[in-house]
Amino acid sequence: MVQDLNLLPTPVRFTADISTEKVHYLDLEISLGATHFQYSLYTKPTDRNTLLHYQSAHPRALKNSLPKAQFLRVIRNNSEVGIRDVQIFEMKNKFLQRGYDECMLETALQEALNARATETKKKALNLVFPMVYNQSTPQVASVIRKNWRIVSSDDTLPKVFKEKPLICYKRNRNLKDMLVRTDPSQSYLNIAKEQIRGSVRCLGCVTCSHMTPARTFFHPHNNRKYTIRYTITCKTTHVIYKLSCPCGLCYIGKTETAICERIRGHRSSIRLAYRDGSTDKPVAKHFFELKHPLATLKFVAIDHIPNPRRGWDRGRMLLNREAYWIHELDTVSPKGLNEALSLHSFLA
Ligand SMILES: [Zn+2]
Ligand SMILES: [Zn+2]
Repeated sequence: MVQDLNLLPTPVRFTADISTEKVHYLDLEISLGATHFQYSLYTKPTDRNTLLHYQSAHPRALKNSLPKAQFLRVIRNNSEVGIRDVQIFEMKNKFLQRGYDECMLETALQEALNARATETKKKALNLVFPMVYNQSTPQVASVIRKNWRIVSSDDTLPKVFKEKPLICYKRNRNLKDMLVRTDPSQSYLNIAKEQIRGSVRCLGCVTCSHMTPARTFFHPHNNRKYTIRYTITCKTTHVIYKLSCPCGLCYIGKTETAICERIRGHRSSIRLAYRDGSTDKPVAKHFFELKHPLATLKFVAIDHIPNPRRGWDRGRMLLNREAYWIHELDTVSPKGLNEALSLHSFLA
């Protein structure tokens, strides 16, 4: 099978290792001993020495901790001391080739051996502060450490931030991140999202039969054009909508629940107005008085309040936005169907 594959006219070559005594799994070679399994660190014969070069512009702390981490890996992945020592020697040579200092490697090796022997439990750290690494980040870290007493002297903060944070570094975006798109699906999704921005129908419910699908809408009096900045479906909550009737009057409303529920409310109050012959709801009243059929009720979802930052009152933001649109589109009676423009939400 492997031979057949290798006869194909491609530069790709396949290999297969089949054995009843040993198996390679990740970075381990597991073999059958006389009484138990033995294991050692496994590297593919094709592997090159890709350890981080000491001259690389990475944080010094990272380069200094790398040898110990790798020695620990060799020690942990070896059940036999003989093989372990050979592999430690090989690992040390790899580091020497990559510009690491021999003294530093010796110290790291001793630390790794001691750490393995004692296997002390690590103290749980309560706060980690990640920063994107660049040449000046270590200075930021030292400023934080130096001025930590300002945080400690605060009345409330020390309860949360008991000790100085552990500062760690995140990798910055590199050229590969900027240039290579291995998974383009996300960018397609973003384009798709961009395209469906606006008031969008689900095609499956009564509410959406009243919805006018639109990416823009017009001022009822002066025909000024507005663009809808969000994707709003009948299930979206915290929405401002514009209802319109056949004679061209508009009503601006808001809803904290899904917009389909709010429109259902309008539908039922119009139906009740027809049944009872009267109502105090402004939209239903107008529909009843001018004998507009229920099916002529149309709406566009024009604005939305996304989940705001912590501490912001979403309900109040919605009220403010409703007042803004009533004023902007001039929909207070008799020019529209809104009874009044309330500015209370802007006060207090
Ligand atoms: Zn719907
Ligand atoms: Zn009307």
